[in-house]
Amino acid sequence: MFRAAALLACVLAWTAPAWAQPAPAPAPDPVTTLLKRAEQILNSGDRAAFPSLFSGLSDEQINQHAFDLFMPGAVRTVVHERDRTDLEGAPPGDGYRVVVELFVETPRRAKIVTAGLDIRRPPGGDLNSWRIVRTEGVASVEGLFRLRLITTTQFAARNLEIRAEDLLITLQEGTVFQIDTEEGITGVILLGRGEMRFSPTPETERGQLRIFSGNETLTTPFEAAFLRLNPIDFQRLVTTSALTKVTPDARMVRRAQEVFGRDSPKSYVVDLQDLSRDTWHLQPPANDMLAEVQTRRFGILTYTRGNAQAEDVQLFQRDRRRTIALYASQAKLAARGRFYSDDALREYDVIDYNIEAIVDPERQSLEARARLAIRARASLSTLTLRLADRLEVSSVTSVEYGRLLHLRVSNQNTIMISLPRQLPQDSDITLILNYAGKVAPDPIETETLQTGQDQQPTGGESPFSNHEPHYLLSNRSLWYPQNPVPDYATATIRLVVPEGYGCVASGERVSGATAVSLRDLLTLPGGKPFVFRANQPLRYLAFVVSRFDRVLEKTIATSDEAARDPAGDRLLIAVEANARQRNRARQLARPIEDILRFYTGLIGDAPYPSATVAMVESDLPGGHSPGYFAVLNDPTSNATIAWRNDPAAFDGFGEFFLAHELAHQWWGQAIGWKNYHEQWLSEGFAQYFAALYAQKSRGDKVFTDMLRQFRRWSLADSDQGPVHLGYRLGHIKNDSRVFRALVYNKGAAVLHMLRRLLGDQVFFNSLRRFYQDRRFQKAGTEDLQRAFELESGRDLDRFFERWIYSSELPRLTYHTTIAEREVTVRFDQVGTEVFDIPVTVTIVFTDGKTKDVIVPVTEKQVEQRIPVEGAVRQVQINRDSAAIAEFSES
Ligand SMILES: [Zn+2]
Repeated sequence: MFRAAALLACVLAWTAPAWAQPAPAPAPDPVTTLLKRAEQILNSGDRAAFPSLFSGLSDEQINQHAFDLFMPGAVRTVVHERDRTDLEGAPPGDGYRVVVELFVETPRRAKIVTAGLDIRRPPGGDLNSWRIVRTEGVASVEGLFRLRLITTTQFAARNLEIRAEDLLITLQEGTVFQIDTEEGITGVILLGRGEMRFSPTPETERGQLRIFSGNETLTTPFEAAFLRLNPIDFQRLVTTSALTKVTPDARMVRRAQEVFGRDSPKSYVVDLQDLSRDTWHLQPPANDMLAEVQTRRFGILTYTRGNAQAEDVQLFQRDRRRTIALYASQAKLAARGRFYSDDALREYDVIDYNIEAIVDPERQSLEARARLAIRARASLSTLTLRLADRLEVSSVTSVEYGRLLHLRVSNQNTIMISLPRQLPQDSDITLILNYAGKVAPDPIETETLQTGQDQQPTGGESPFSNHEPHYLLSNRSLWYPQNPVPDYATATIRLVVPEGYGCVASGERVSGATAVSLRDLLTLPGGKPFVFRANQPLRYLAFVVSRFDRVLEKTIATSDEAARDPAGDRLLIAVEANARQRNRARQLARPIEDILRFYTGLIGDAPYPSATVAMVESDLPGGHSPGYFAVLNDPTSNATIAWRNDPAAFDGFGEFFLAHELAHQWWGQAIGWKNYHEQWLSEGFAQYFAALYAQKSRGDKVFTDMLRQFRRWSLADSDQGPVHLGYRLGHIKNDSRVFRALVYNKGAAVLHMLRRLLGDQVFFNSLRRFYQDRRFQKAGTEDLQRAFELESGRDLDRFFERWIYSSELPRLTYHTTIAEREVTVRFDQVGTEVFDIPVTVTIVFTDGKTKDVIVPVTEKQVEQRIPVEGAVRQVQINRDSAAIAEFSES
């Protein structure tokens, strides 16, 4: 049947090199001839000749096809053959199953129809006698429009007001031009004296706006604005009573054209590749709105209401590419509640990836083929994948349907794949993509310390140093086609790298799989293949290529008990390094083993059966940790003074980065985050686990030093926003230290305070419960809170509200009274809100001995009497820096 034939075609395509894709069939070819004739009939509007393309179809079917394809006013129709297989049941050479795309265009509108056609030669027929005998699976992409600036009508405006959620755009005095599509007015251009006023409802967003503009409400004059909306919203949003028709003025028309030319291609545009070179626009969905406002002070500010987004109100600064505000509208909050997961927008699951790539680390390019096993979560007619724009896709094939149409959405690193028929919910499809091109390496920006605010680190290469280069492609580079909403998937990765290079990728290295295929030999003389298999699910796939040697490989037991039991749990650890670092890299064996055993003991599980550390040369310390491996920067320069002043620089704990990166195998990889707000579940946890390891390996002093640093940075930067703001912390000011200060350090400090409130046993039981509950899934703070509440039996709403969702810090005054056999401490919370905060009270006796007592301050005023034996010299408050608060004596 069709499926079998298509499968065969795919297998052939799969083994053929990418550069050997089938060329257009040489003429005279019966299919090309028939499709050419169809194109001529459609282009000439010759309805009478249309039925002559078919044989054996009912009049009703033919009429329906004519209705679909003869668009009133059509000016151009393109018939494009995408795929061809032999037709089952026809003698060889007498029939084909063909997938075609028809692009039909009127002066203002276009659509794409995808159809499967069975084409046959009648017995004894010649080249021109072939007919379409069956059609199926017609899918279409409708709603492609040509956008037009109406220059024949100009309006004078007085106090024109346009409102959207939390936004008011006023044109006090000026000129308005309309933009339309065939469906009606879909935008306006405002020129003149205007004012933009944006006042976000959420308190956190007002705080971000203050960081951006100095004020919680942004009020700024503008000279020009470009607005897009759906035609059905036009009357509602644009009060036409403020507009008066005037005679168009050539100078104003020119200005409007400039704005239109600049702003209109930025959004709602589709790139149709070989079907059309023109710019085709999509209509904004109803209730959506986009405004590009040209202000003098901030450049172009883009406001969007996009209902498809989980956070559907956004303010964006174009020139600096900064997100200023991003949050859910009132309607969205009412519909979905406070918490959300990116997964709600996921249309399908990728169950398994199989990727083969030839990697050229010097040119920073790859040539690859990816096979994705996909299961639909909803009924689908198109599939959207993310892939870097610079990677050119030469073909998209499915095992089930053969060759498929794919479209690039401009500048969005997105591919849309149109399916020949509706894919039912829970059904499977296997896609194969061939692609090639250059990909810029991943910046490890958040994990790498930075010397200055605006310095953008590169993938380990600096023009000023002679590091051994490395090429890291990970979660940011979009080097492989992936779900727009990432989910957990297993994977096989086969990489061919040039001779002399080594590589580390997500998965266990499959030994013995070193056979070089004919393809490898043809394309890359001397290339060396590496195969990695990940049977445990991963959030994303990554690899790093450099002139690596494997300096260590060792199987370790995950605990002392496991060591005694031959069947006990084992982990394979390995270290790869460049030649210059071989000795330093070998010294990592001991700490890697220690750290992995320590974490496995705390959590009761190791999510991945192997861990490889790849040591690379770099200016600055840092690292990155995908599943199954970690890249560790080995700083070679003497820039140490510059990075000392960083939230993540810890004196006296050389293994900090190693400990932090390895913790990500649990936190960040095995446990993912539901959306960007929840990144502290990865970074705060990795930071805290690194601190716990510091305490175990280096003792209490190093641990307390880290707590002190957590507190110092939390106090310094908490006014930049709540921990729950994720990557947006420091984003507006382009200072990633703010992100590390809060998401890493404050996140870790909050965990430590929670531990001190609940006690060690409840704390670690809760962590294990949370881990077991969410392993290989995404998590949110509410999941963590639930685990802690179930273990402790306590309501922790207020704890998380204050420490994670808001940016305020507690301010406490204290008073101590030393009596004969008793010390009394009184705390007052003088801020507006009451926090739950454990405070260490240290009683210092005259003989120099000390006694620590944790006082849980969970009311506005707390007084505690501490019985003492012996003479007290002094009482110290928060000596261990574990409480993130300001203290003053009252
Ligand atoms: Zn990290």
